[in-house]
Amino acid sequence: MKKLMIATNNKGKAKDFETLFSPYGFEVQTLNDLDQDIDVEETGVTFEENAVLKAEEVSKLLGIIVIADDSGLEIDKLKGAPGVYSARYAGEQKNDEANIDKVLSELQGVPQQERTARFRCVLAVAGPGVETVTFSGSCEGLILEERRGTNGFGYDPIFYVPEKGRAMAELSPEEKGEISHRGAALRQLKEQLPRLLDSLGEQQ
Ligand code: IMP
Repeated sequence: MKKLMIATNNKGKAKDFETLFSPYGFEVQTLNDLDQDIDVEETGVTFEENAVLKAEEVSKLLGIIVIADDSGLEIDKLKGAPGVYSARYAGEQKNDEANIDKVLSELQGVPQQERTARFRCVLAVAGPGVETVTFSGSCEGLILEERRGTNGFGYDPIFYVPEKGRAMAELSPEEKGEISHRGAALRQLKEQLPRLLDSLGEQQ
């Protein structure tokens, strides 16, 4: 089976990619599968910059095609924060519960109509001799006043999805995939798969 490298240590993200690529005969690998420690610093100020940075740096190091994902939450009332700092909003320990507490306290007393927000995801595909391409997806919602549901990860318990009438953490993984930012970006990537897989087939 041909191998495809995803520049992430996040097992949840890796699962999404496995589902997408296994029908095409590609085995998904992540940074966790390597003998060496690769830690790309996310110095970009946009999701796109960070996704491209991760994909290109890992691709250069390994000499193969690499896919990277950068994602996060933008809250209008907080001028787009936490944005690219979503994972480490309450500190470098990257604690989901502390991040949620920080958002809830910053939005205390803010009325529902002003609690608009969206998740964003950018996927980048980079490889030797191949121009880097990106795909993006977003998902609109409202920040709740307290946690609801236990599924998912990150900010899912405080992200209300009007389309489903529930919090993201109250949706099944399949329901989340239908409306999520990552699902939307993956669907676009899938449309380009035949073209991308041509170059992958030649190189991997
Ligand atoms: P990164 O893309 O690994 O740099 O981190 C993205 C961060 O954004 C995660 O750690 C979460 O805090 C947040 N995030 C991204 N996607 C989701 C999602 O689908 N649900 C909840 N939080 C998310």
